[in-house]
Amino acid sequence: MTTGCLFCRIVSRDIPAAVVYEDEQILAFDDINPQAPVHTLVIPKLHLSSIAETTPEDAPLLGQLIRVGSQIARDKGVAETGYRLVANTGRHGGQSVLHLHLHLLGGRPMQWPPG
Ligand code: AMP
Ligand code: ZN
Repeated sequence: MTTGCLFCRIVSRDIPAAVVYEDEQILAFDDINPQAPVHTLVIPKLHLSSIAETTPEDAPLLGQLIRVGSQIARDKGVAETGYRLVANTGRHGGQSVLHLHLHLLGGRPMQWPPG
């Protein structure tokens, strides 16, 4: 746990969240400010600040994050219509919380390119 990290505090249940999935390594909860009918964040319980900070040892965990995102998309009924799994990274990537997370966005058509 990294002191002061919002998502670490959600992992430790210091801060409440609408949890939709949990296993030993991963937590998923609905975004507090949804940008689509389905907007869920999938995070590692371990504090990693971003995709840019990961090492080869993190590859299985990163793979699991994607798999969990796709499972939640099925559970939430957007797998057939389609969805996005997005990892905003760094300043230009629009990352505001420095704890690695995947956004699962679905339930409406998405634009390309993103803003
Ligand atoms: P990013 O801008 O990619 O770092 O995404 C951070 C996301 O965390 C944003 O979509 C926020 O709406 C979301 N967020 C911030 N605080 C909370 C919270 N307490 N519970 C759930 N989602 C949150
Ligand atoms: Zn953290």
